[in-house]
Amino acid sequence: MSTKIKDDKVLLDLTSRVYKVVVEHGKKGVLQSELWKELSLTSRDGSRIAIRLEKRGMIKRDRMLQEGRWTYKLTPLRFPVQIKSIEEAPCMTCPDEERCSPAGVVTPLECILVESWVQSDRIDIPAKR
Ligand code: SF4
Repeated sequence: MSTKIKDDKVLLDLTSRVYKVVVEHGKKGVLQSELWKELSLTSRDGSRIAIRLEKRGMIKRDRMLQEGRWTYKLTPLRFPVQIKSIEEAPCMTCPDEERCSPAGVVTPLECILVESWVQSDRIDIPAKR
């Protein structure tokens, strides 16, 4: 069964999942047809997401011939220090992500979502006496 992209929130969530799986395959990359099967995506929806990630400079799409058919191999261009570090990052599903920049009206410098996310990951270390 394929997943249909019905709204922006679903698209952003799927984008995050696609990026995560591409990163998990590392530098050897993954054929997009395998990825679509793994995530139950249609090739149309999957391609749309891959193009979105490519435009953001997060992955590379290399056209290649596989068993007589043209496809793309997806390889991450940016690796997070740890996959876990991006799992719950609010930016991955943020509806304002496209207009957010350090100098913009929407900015990570004053983002309550990022602040809450960072604080939720904080480890409380008892103060030395
Ligand atoms: S910094 Fe805040 S506003 Fe900007 S993309 Fe991330 S969550 Fe959204």
